Amino acid sequence: MKRLSILLASMACFVFSFAQQADNARQKVDALIKQMTLEEKIGQMTQVTMALVAKGGWGNQDGSLDPATLKKAVLDYKVGSILNTTAHALSVEVWQQVQTQIQDEAKKSRLKIPVIYGLDGIHGQTYTLNATLFPQSIAMAATRNPEMVARIAKVAAKELRASGVRWNFAPVLDCGRQPLWSRFPETYGEDVYIGKTMGAAAIHAYEEDGLKNPTAVACCMKHYLAYSASRTGKDRTPSYIPEIELREYYLPQFREAIRAGASTIMINSGEINGVPVHASKYLLNDVLRKEMGFQGLIVTDWEDIIRLHTRHLVANSPRQAVVQAINAGIDMSMVPGDFSFFDLLKEAVQKGEVPMSRIDDAVRRILTLKMKLGLFDDPYPEKAAAANFGKTEYQTLALDAAHEAMTLLKNQDNILPLSKDKKILIAGPAAQSISALNGCWSYTWQGNNESVYPADSKTIAQAISEKAGNANVIITGVKGYDNADNYDTDKLKAAAAGADVILLCLGENAYAESPGNTRELVLPENQLALARTAIASGKPVVLVLAEGRPRFITSIEPQLKGILLAYWSGKKTAEAVADVLFGDYNPDGRLPFSYPRSMGEMVLYDRKHTEDVREILNENMTWDGYNPLFPFGFGLSYTSFEYGSILLSSNSIKGAAKLTVSITVKNSGSRDGKHVVELYTHQQYASITPCMQRLRAFKKIFLKAGETQMVSFVLDKNDLAFVNAQLKTVTEPGDFDVMIGDKKATFNFQQ
Ligand code: BGC
Repeated sequence: MKRLSILLASMACFVFSFAQQADNARQKVDALIKQMTLEEKIGQMTQVTMALVAKGGWGNQDGSLDPATLKKAVLDYKVGSILNTTAHALSVEVWQQVQTQIQDEAKKSRLKIPVIYGLDGIHGQTYTLNATLFPQSIAMAATRNPEMVARIAKVAAKELRASGVRWNFAPVLDCGRQPLWSRFPETYGEDVYIGKTMGAAAIHAYEEDGLKNPTAVACCMKHYLAYSASRTGKDRTPSYIPEIELREYYLPQFREAIRAGASTIMINSGEINGVPVHASKYLLNDVLRKEMGFQGLIVTDWEDIIRLHTRHLVANSPRQAVVQAINAGIDMSMVPGDFSFFDLLKEAVQKGEVPMSRIDDAVRRILTLKMKLGLFDDPYPEKAAAANFGKTEYQTLALDAAHEAMTLLKNQDNILPLSKDKKILIAGPAAQSISALNGCWSYTWQGNNESVYPADSKTIAQAISEKAGNANVIITGVKGYDNADNYDTDKLKAAAAGADVILLCLGENAYAESPGNTRELVLPENQLALARTAIASGKPVVLVLAEGRPRFITSIEPQLKGILLAYWSGKKTAEAVADVLFGDYNPDGRLPFSYPRSMGEMVLYDRKHTEDVREILNENMTWDGYNPLFPFGFGLSYTSFEYGSILLSSNSIKGAAKLTVSITVKNSGSRDGKHVVELYTHQQYASITPCMQRLRAFKKIFLKAGETQMVSFVLDKNDLAFVNAQLKTVTEPGDFDVMIGDKKATFNFQQ
């Protein structure tokens, strides 16, 4: 009893001191706002890019800042935030100098308000040389391992903070339902549940230590909302989405992220149904603030306020653009290349077009974040943070993550694992490329500058040669993805004569955002020609695909013996590929998207019944609505897993009751391995046409050969919900199928 009272008393003290701290922070922020001039407030809302204050501007290679322009930005324009790099990644020491110089300048200002710096560490800390880069989110989704997502996010946080940076523009929560989209690799794929789970895991990892702690950063969920759903698939082009779909597929990830405690949010540069999101009071205020209760900071994406005037054409002047965005709810403008926003907003406030209350509201959120991050206590790079840079354990984690991402799509006649005494011909543009294994946001924005990757990065050709021995390997082609030598089919044909097996490494070189726009998802013709030549040699061909989005391989697939999807899996992609190909790692990755056959077959796994079963009017028509080359969730192993029957704790549940769904899983093959058990549900009849299946839960387990394990999931009515015609998330009574692998059971739900 005594112990319990002590525990309760200390808990009460903790809660009290936490509330006290929050109260103190609030008072400090309020006191500061009272002292601030209009210019000081507007400056806080202004974010500029590093190029504006770097010597020589864009292209600056060494991180040196120009004292005069830095003064202009921080003291004259009073900017509250800076972002980005000027050319490529900088060393951790240079970043620390950059941050120190900026904060020194801020210290000279009247109120000494520190500057908050933001960078895009989306798969590790992009812009610090030798930081560890991990698999892109699409590859992390294939791991079905949220705990692994959290561990890599934690490393990104540490390496950012070691660089003196406390704000990370990640995670991307856009749902990858449009494979043409050039930012598809940054998404967690087509499923809402995976996106919610992985996104929340990353956010916890970034922030849970408390933002003052040198192992944490403020995260930025992005890009709110439905950026990924553009009709054309081109970056920053319009989405047309009925609100029912918006709420079913694109909003839940953000709702979950807010629950997970995300501090900031970045807005979609595009427009939805003709309304640019940066000007949408409905989405920013009514939905994000009021309905979902988001209290944090709203930042624009790149140049997006002025683009309301120059691109979207909804504001008839630059000032009108600023008025629309700030009144809609934007707190900070990523301007970022000049100071126009400052002048325009000042004018707008003076003319009464933006109320002072809106400015104070925005500034309060910005200052609160800075306070939470400890920037007012000590804005400089922290010693304790610096010690967390570049630990060797990050390399092990990078390999573990890349291993779990590898998704084996085909293994005809057990061509894999390869035996090490076979003569292997390694060919294709991705065979000797580092950038094609890392993708976007890798030491440069586009990720395609090979010269800035760490010296110990390996190509697939290197990793295979190290394992099999140089004598067992023939390599055609050269470094340089686009080098004509890599597409020389005559050379490939000649080399094939001396090989037992051909390892063809194809896919996509790194790209990001608009430069990654494509008109075509079919693998480029010069790559297909290589594949046809390899196949024509009569030697078995194993395809390794290093790519950020599904490039169609339908015309060559039937003749390939093996297909390994490696995605862009970061620093250790090559080692992970080699380990899987030789059987030193038993693959367990599962597709986070439906791998389409062609543009005419872009149906997603959670399709409607009417997409699945087409109307059959004559004998030439087939029932093939969902007919991907490889379905969502697909992924082979070198062992086999068998399921027992599904056991339900009850055949019916009522109200808030819980249902336990259990199944035994047996590793019935001869190798140990990890396996993902996925649980899907399907409502038989509903007021809105039900989806054929929705992923509701998954668990990754490890089973030794011959071992059996019981896996259980607990569901309740929230796991069965959908958005109805009134745009409400509801669970309707009725019969539900629950599916795991090839097994199915049925239960009934009543309110
Ligand atoms: C991207 C954002 C990114 C920002 C800052 C924009 O072009 O859309 O995702 O955070 O640049 O680098």
